[in-house]
Amino acid sequence: MSNYDVIIIGSGAGGGTLALKLAPSGKRILILERGNYLPREKENWDATEVFVKNRYVSKDIWHDKDNKPFQPGVHYFVGGATKVFGAALFRLRQQDFTAHRTAAGLTPDWPINYDELEPYYTQAEKLYNVHGQRGDDPTDPPASAPYPFPPVSHEPRIQELTDNLKRAGYHPSFAPTGILLNETDMPQSRCIRCNTCDGFPCLVHAKSDAEVIAVRPALQYPNVTLLTNTHVQKLETSASGNEITRVIVERDGQREEFSGSIVVVSCGAANSARLLLMSTNEKHPRGLANGSDLVGRNYMFHNSIALVALSRRENPTVFQKTLTVNDFYLRAPDYEFPLGNIQMIGKTKGPMFREDSHGFAPGWTLDQMAKHAVDFWLMGEDLGLPQNRVTLNSQGEIQLHYEFTNQEPINRLRQKLQSMLEHLDMHPHLIPNNLYMGKHIPIAGVGHQSGTCRFGTDPKNSVLDVNCKAHELDNLYVVDTSFFPSIGAVNPSLTAIANALRVGDHLLQRLK
Ligand SMILES: Cc1cc2nc3c(=O)[nH]c(=O)nc-3n(C[C@H](O)[C@H](O)[C@H](O)COP(=O)(O)OP(=O)(O)OC[C@H]3O[C@@H](n4cnc5c(N)ncnc54)[C@H](O)[C@@H]3O)c2cc1C
Ligand code: SF4
Repeated sequence: MSNYDVIIIGSGAGGGTLALKLAPSGKRILILERGNYLPREKENWDATEVFVKNRYVSKDIWHDKDNKPFQPGVHYFVGGATKVFGAALFRLRQQDFTAHRTAAGLTPDWPINYDELEPYYTQAEKLYNVHGQRGDDPTDPPASAPYPFPPVSHEPRIQELTDNLKRAGYHPSFAPTGILLNETDMPQSRCIRCNTCDGFPCLVHAKSDAEVIAVRPALQYPNVTLLTNTHVQKLETSASGNEITRVIVERDGQREEFSGSIVVVSCGAANSARLLLMSTNEKHPRGLANGSDLVGRNYMFHNSIALVALSRRENPTVFQKTLTVNDFYLRAPDYEFPLGNIQMIGKTKGPMFREDSHGFAPGWTLDQMAKHAVDFWLMGEDLGLPQNRVTLNSQGEIQLHYEFTNQEPINRLRQKLQSMLEHLDMHPHLIPNNLYMGKHIPIAGVGHQSGTCRFGTDPKNSVLDVNCKAHELDNLYVVDTSFFPSIGAVNPSLTAIANALRVGDHLLQRLK
């Protein structure tokens, strides 16, 4: 059995980043990743392949609370879900770290405050090449440094929308974005600013995903090893149950075992919970680190709506994800609770509209609809509830029990956006009464999954301690989005990345 100083399971935002942070230590680090490298092929940028044929979505089947099977939007590759992410790299807002009232109840306090994570957010923004501009967004948390790169510029139609929003008294700002773009020297820029970014893999490796930014650079160190197609099945402990002694994997169909002084789980929130729940033994009969019975509970994934406004004028924008509006993040003039975040999403392409969308714009082809679409993504906070949880069925497959929470704010946010647009220069709309196609994201849209192993100070109320070490085991850590006690209403990756850097500092001390 091969022995390592650190074994990291999963190579996404959390695990990949941690590997890079630990790499210069010279310690023997093993990354175990169930997927392979995402193939670089023309299909990376083909909307039909990516969105209709789900070319890069795993074949996994999960089950809902009624045991109904569904295919979750999970991506098992080196780099994890960041291979297809939209690269919107937001910090949580300062208020997200403290208990706050929402329409559906109180969120929990985090065991650390914003100031403790701030230096790591700054490091994370530098590492992941975030482009942005501080100060325009009234909810911007304090930052110790400017963004490392200037904001990604708005194209004319989005600039026009920005100007109109400002004129109407709102505070639109540049969305913080992790891409390797140099707008002042496009011939040298790795990113070509194309229209197949959000939701697509980047064919030219110019997106700040965890493979490009973290895993590949980590592998430059001779002490770091990556095994792909290596699916971790179970973690075994010593007889005392106090430490992990063996990591059991299936690699290319064969069982293998590894051991590590420290074992870090970062499989994504649902799969990390699954791995811990699969690893029952005499000392941990409910699964590892699960004396509190909290492993798998408090699953969150945001209340999200993809909203397409169809306008009579064409929208020729290529890279659309440059604008965000947080005027209603904390409250609205007519509502005391947080509504959430508004941002753009990548420009919809014809095949991405469902065939039945024709009904919304009779006589129009799907391509015509796409040309006229202005595409928004609305995100509201969902609350971690104990009954919203990952469990395993008798085959060891994930069962995701989830009931939507805190729905009123996101519906209000949608109304706000619609009325904002009605009063802006986006009309006349395609059909007389303005046309909006809004789609609530169902539970299969697990992109923002988090919260199944929340961290905290009290072992009765949390799975992990403040350093993201399992309360009940001496050498087990979790560094993906599982640790979130609450999710806020901005995209989760930068927080997972910053936290991995923070946990990395703790581990470097421990490994000395
Ligand atoms: C379409 C899409 C768009 C998104 N856009 C954004 C965005 O714009 N901004 C943002 O902040 N976030 C975005 N996200 C979310 C973001 O990608 C995730 O929050 C982030 O990747 C989570 O990091 P993680 O480390 O928790 O998990 P992941 O990045 O998913 O990594 C988990 C890794 O573990 C591996 N793994 C799982 N189980 C095992 C096992 N048993 N053994 C070995 N390996 C295992 C997986 O293959 C995977 O590589 C998006 C997600 C999707 C799907
Ligand atoms: S916009 Fe840039 S980062 Fe995004 S897919 Fe295109 S080339 Fe890659």
